[in-house]
Amino acid sequence: MKKLLEKCDQLYINGHWLKGEGEKRVLSNPANEEFLTEIHEASVEQVELAIQAAFDAFRTNDWAINKGKRIETLKRIAQRLEDAKDDLTKLEVINTGKPYNEAKLDIDDSIACLRYYVDLIVEKQPRRIKMEDGSVSKVHKEPIGVCSLIVPWNFPFLLGMWKIAPALAAGNTIVFKPSEITPLSSILFTELLDQCDVPDGVFNLVLGAGKGPGEALVTSDKVDKVSFTGGSETGRKVIELCAQSFKRVSLELGGKSPFLIFDDVDADLAAELAIYGAFLNQGEVCVASSRLLVHENLYETFLGKLNEKLQKLRIGDPFDQNTEMGAIISKEHLAKIERYISIGKEEGATLLFGGERLNRKGLFITPAVFTNVKQNMRIVQEEIFGPVVTVQSFRTEKEAIELANDTKFGLAAGILSGNQERAQKIAGELKAGTIWINSYHTPYVEAPWGGYKQSGIGRELGPEGLDGFLETKHVNTQK
Ligand code: NAD
Repeated sequence: MKKLLEKCDQLYINGHWLKGEGEKRVLSNPANEEFLTEIHEASVEQVELAIQAAFDAFRTNDWAINKGKRIETLKRIAQRLEDAKDDLTKLEVINTGKPYNEAKLDIDDSIACLRYYVDLIVEKQPRRIKMEDGSVSKVHKEPIGVCSLIVPWNFPFLLGMWKIAPALAAGNTIVFKPSEITPLSSILFTELLDQCDVPDGVFNLVLGAGKGPGEALVTSDKVDKVSFTGGSETGRKVIELCAQSFKRVSLELGGKSPFLIFDDVDADLAAELAIYGAFLNQGEVCVASSRLLVHENLYETFLGKLNEKLQKLRIGDPFDQNTEMGAIISKEHLAKIERYISIGKEEGATLLFGGERLNRKGLFITPAVFTNVKQNMRIVQEEIFGPVVTVQSFRTEKEAIELANDTKFGLAAGILSGNQERAQKIAGELKAGTIWINSYHTPYVEAPWGGYKQSGIGRELGPEGLDGFLETKHVNTQK
């Protein structure tokens, strides 16, 4: 592990490792609060250097136009990642505090995502249209140019790959910035990519916070597209900055997703799925089902089962194979979660279960369940991004849909019902980008991911994810 942490003062710019000249940041392991490493972040000048490298690479080498070369290079990277899976997983665990088993799946999904986009570009051909006037049109898709990719801390590697894979496959050059608090897996990724003959300047890694490095990535005139994942408030700033120069921008933002549970399902299964939906990754998930809406006939039985199962939930050492919930990412974030638990109590909601710190080293808290909540309470309307859930009952389908849609967010929703027809009909009425019927959470690389309303603009994954990194050009030819 020590060797893995050695490169942490380095940025990767124009094919070279460079010592960061910006802020220094100490990282510690959330699960035991022990020192991990000190990060030397990028100065704004170094971010500009990285953008310049990407700008020059887009114009001077054949990355954008040589699809065959891109395919071979990206395949090599996928193989390197495959070989380094265990190291990548360990870094993700010590940096985020998430359970090893979950991090392992994240790394597998990341490699699958890279391979998916390689396969997708193999097939891609211009669309040809024969017009009534005898002319022929071709619709070409071209890389946009220099892309700034900015991601948060909850799935550092996976969310990075959701951008890096389509952006590179499309032929763009990129500057990638992981969250300032979770850069470790990205540094190892860069080391692996460095061994794969990627032309200099095509991929650049900068480390650092939003203020300074992040803003430089958004404001530079040399950047053509910003692809951002993070909080809705930050997203607002990003889109405002992009508007100045009409930069292409896609935003994957926050959520407050409802899970509608009907009375024609087994309460045991419902409680299990609800726990998975709400508390996977310690509830630090943009699509977490943080609002459980339960039919009144099932409500009391459901709460009983939920309580029973949560008492047994194994919280603790992320490297223990039996652990179901790990540590909260940072002291500051844990304090934010606790503040929301206090707000919930002050608002008059009942804290039915949890919300207590574990009596051990590390940033652990038991999942909190609130009942007796009102729709206008802050704990119902605001994204907490931690293991806090509200449970409300409903009587009719109409009421369930109204409660579900009564939010500024629209990222995801779940429906649990034995009646397929009803579930499909309700799915049609929910204002959310992803809806899971009788399941929750799985991101399918083949299908789009993104938000309605204040949860974002644009889509990742699937062909839509590739399209977000392409410009469209129509060429019409009259003989
Ligand atoms: P955040 O908005 O604080 O930061 C996200 C990233 O943006 C970080 O890399 C940060 O350094 C950078 N940043 C911050 N200010 C910036 C600025 N002014 N200009 C440019 N970059 C800036 O979010 P976070 O706390 O890291 O992550 C949690 C949020 O991310 C939650 O709201 C969550 O819902 C959201 N999220 C959304 C998705 C999705 O797919 N929709 C996925 C994961 C997380």
